Amino acid sequence: MKNGGSNPPAPGNRCAGPPGGLSCRPGGFVFYYARMLLPLAATGVALGAWAYGTYEPNSSLFGRAIGRGSPAQRVAYLTFDDGPNPGATEPILATLGAHGVPAAFFMVGEHVRRFPAIARRVAELGHDVGNHTLRHKKLHLLGPSRIREELEGAHEIIAELTGRAPRTFRAPHGYRNPFVTRATRRLGYTVFGWTFGVWDSDSRVSAEEIRARVRRKLKPGAIVLLHDGDGYDPNGDRRRTADALPGIIEDARGRGYVFRPLAELIA
Ligand SMILES: [Zn+2]
Repeated sequence: MKNGGSNPPAPGNRCAGPPGGLSCRPGGFVFYYARMLLPLAATGVALGAWAYGTYEPNSSLFGRAIGRGSPAQRVAYLTFDDGPNPGATEPILATLGAHGVPAAFFMVGEHVRRFPAIARRVAELGHDVGNHTLRHKKLHLLGPSRIREELEGAHEIIAELTGRAPRTFRAPHGYRNPFVTRATRRLGYTVFGWTFGVWDSDSRVSAEEIRARVRRKLKPGAIVLLHDGDGYDPNGDRRRTADALPGIIEDARGRGYVFRPLAELIA
């Protein structure tokens, strides 16, 4: 008897499932394997999304992070991470002052403790002061209590030694997880990413090259990531960034850009 119509399947027939069942359709094995692989694919998508939330500094997966201002105007925002630093922060402040340019400084708590006078000067000159953790830890693999310690420890030191409580946060390397979001919410922070960096922390990149890279990458609304310090070495050399800054400002203004304070993007 043929196995068709409403007849029950013959014993031993590989089409032994319920009539019309998955393995009895044309290409049944394809469906079977697809059913096996779909959960794996879903897991892959979930891992991909998690990686995106973790490593993409402007991702909103773990809470909003502002990565750019309005693209409709020729405005730009200068941000400096990993300071304060004895060799670079002061000359950067001098250049900003001479040109009347505002900037934001995302400070490392331990560096603020080491160089409180430089940190205080940043605040006194009216620049934005942000939190960049206590010890510049990569946060994405840390749990809730270590993350709170990194953020709240830096918050207390910065508030006490600069006289200004930070309202903004940027994660070291942009790495985040859901516990980071919880800690930033508790502190009432706005989280920032960046539009582009120029690898100015690489010692092989000259001041001229730093300037040229900013010139090439600048676009309306850009939040520019630069470094006035080294996240790990409190005396790390960032003078090349300081040397590049006058040219960066000159190039941008020559193209009609206006530098604005990052605080205006706070929600
Ligand atoms: Zn950093």
